[in-house]
Amino acid sequence: MSVNKNLLDFINRSPTPFHAVKNMRTELVKHGFKELRESESEKLEPSGQYFVVRNNSSLVAFRVSDKGSMVGVRMVGAHTDSPCLKLKPNAVVEHDGYVQLGVEPYGGVLMNPWFDRDLSLAGRVTLMSTDKILFSRLIDFETPIAFIPSLAIHLDREANSGRKVNPQTMLPPVVGLSGTDKFNLKQLILDKLVDSQLAKKTDVVSDFELSLYDTNPAAIIGLDEAFIAGSRLDNLVSCWIGLKALIDSSSVDTQLLICNDHEEVGSGSFAGARSDLLESVLVRLVGDAAKFSSVMSRSLLVSADNAHGLHPNFLEKHDQSHGPVLNAGPVLKFNANQSYATNSETAAILNLAARNKNIPMQSFVSRSDIGCGSTIGPLTSTRLGVKALDVGIPTFGMHSIRELAGARDLDALYSLLCGLFELPSIEVA
Ligand SMILES: [Zn+2]
Repeated sequence: MSVNKNLLDFINRSPTPFHAVKNMRTELVKHGFKELRESESEKLEPSGQYFVVRNNSSLVAFRVSDKGSMVGVRMVGAHTDSPCLKLKPNAVVEHDGYVQLGVEPYGGVLMNPWFDRDLSLAGRVTLMSTDKILFSRLIDFETPIAFIPSLAIHLDREANSGRKVNPQTMLPPVVGLSGTDKFNLKQLILDKLVDSQLAKKTDVVSDFELSLYDTNPAAIIGLDEAFIAGSRLDNLVSCWIGLKALIDSSSVDTQLLICNDHEEVGSGSFAGARSDLLESVLVRLVGDAAKFSSVMSRSLLVSADNAHGLHPNFLEKHDQSHGPVLNAGPVLKFNANQSYATNSETAAILNLAARNKNIPMQSFVSRSDIGCGSTIGPLTSTRLGVKALDVGIPTFGMHSIRELAGARDLDALYSLLCGLFELPSIEVA
């Protein structure tokens, strides 16, 4: 199956984690998954398909084994957030004839690529009705309404050899010209929600979490359509492919997908991987607290998150024996200091799933003189006491506003995750 077309649509309709979770929720409901509330304790049925959402930005979806008895859990983990520029609470700045918006970098933003893009705004808005009821709505302006102009090379002759980006002074986008009245962002937000029939004119915008995004849609590019280019490939690719693999896999053991928000800022929030979200769902699944450790000891977490592809213009940045190539297969990630959760046993389990499906695998380890990133894998593994590994498709320009990955690796990752969900055994003697 080709996951590309639906993946592009998902990325384009998911400018923020809130939108990503909304779109995943729609897909799950379409395929017979039932939403559970964290505040309720509904009994789970054998073969039942369920999901839980927290903060509208993190999601756990699962299918209970048809035997009903809990042996172990096959888990795939990913994250819904990506580095971006978020609006400050009092965002509007007017001076010298222009209206600009104050922004705060979220996560490890590669800042230079944000210049000279047609940007829009999206996120979550919390409102108050006339009878003082609070409610939240998602918003997406969709059209380009903001732009961060570069300084012309004539005014900065050093631009190509050493321009540093000061996020406070250089990143506020221009959104318009000052008029006689002060620019009212909250009114603009309310008008947009009223137009979309998501709020009434009498409602009041209380607070918002809005971020800028590039309106240039994700696309398949290159000779032979070899690549996918787009925003937020890290890590909406793994969210969507993990979701499709969960939906399409036949049941062996209990299968689960966790997509956390706030990975890019260290996972420390009530919706992040350091929270009790996954644990509380698993406790509910296992049913009996005394059995929890024994079920975890027979479980496996595959943390799916993009890897650094070998960049042909920067070969010296890679270990010469570990250079994952785009379209040559998913990448198992290793780090002796446990920034990745992979070990010899968990790698062997995934490699077996890959062999069964004829999927080529690659491996990544960073140069010993360059540090490496991390994922929700080691955090979740530590918290739950569950075996884990890190895998992902090779990518260029990770954390840029537009990233590049191999289009054929998407199908390979999908088949690999299906293979893992359906592997007859994950035991290592
Ligand atoms: Zn990531």
